[in-house]
Amino acid sequence: MKKREKSDLEIRAIVQANLLLNKYMIDSPTELDIAGIALMEKCIIKETELTGEAGRIIKSGDHFIISIKEGLEKGQRNFVTVHELGHRIFKETISTYSVCKESDLRENKIFKEALPNQFAAELMMKREWFLDFTNNRDLSFELIKDTAEVFNTSIMSACIRYAHIGDKPVGFIYVHNEKIRWKAFSSDFPFWSLNSKLNELSYSKDYFRNRTRYEGKREIDIDAWFRNDRNRRDGATIYEEIFYMPRYGGVLVMLTT
Ligand SMILES: [Zn+2]
Repeated sequence: MKKREKSDLEIRAIVQANLLLNKYMIDSPTELDIAGIALMEKCIIKETELTGEAGRIIKSGDHFIISIKEGLEKGQRNFVTVHELGHRIFKETISTYSVCKESDLRENKIFKEALPNQFAAELMMKREWFLDFTNNRDLSFELIKDTAEVFNTSIMSACIRYAHIGDKPVGFIYVHNEKIRWKAFSSDFPFWSLNSKLNELSYSKDYFRNRTRYEGKREIDIDAWFRNDRNRRDGATIYEEIFYMPRYGGVLVMLTT
């Protein structure tokens, strides 16, 4: 496990997530009935046509109505639902109406979205469960896919969780239409200063250039991703593995040492 101080936000999320898990006597991810818990917590879930946002929560009398964008894949739908439930648990993150964009679901700086995200991660991927499942296993997208499956969550939320508490150094990057949109790096990953643009040397670039896909990890020159990092050395290499998301027009990249 990463040796790092927990922030106040993390501690609040851990406490509230564990209170709920205890309240409903949930001892494993398979016992986690998200819709059932939401209902017990006075939230009614609806799938509805939303554009430009993944979910929202509205107070309605003494209940809350959680709207989830139609057509999300199951893991993502679950994560959005628990994120919205997080708004309801942390009432200061919601006024009478809260709208959450897809980018809000990986937000870790703006308090109003970071707290529900952390809560969702803690509830769905409780630390002990997550570490039991991932520790001492080879890190690859196979593991991330297995993790998302076991914890009934989205691939992206599993990546972010791994970067925060997994046992191996890693950098995850999401590239959409050739633009680097976000990154989640573990605190022990040795490189930090990402290239501002997608580099010609990267295997990811090939996908956007001519839709070439590669399976598994591939060794690559450090300059493909970190030309200006202070830990960069001439001739150093890292490994790049890509999870292709054609439906979203993007790729999720895993960098390992
Ligand atoms: Zn939100």
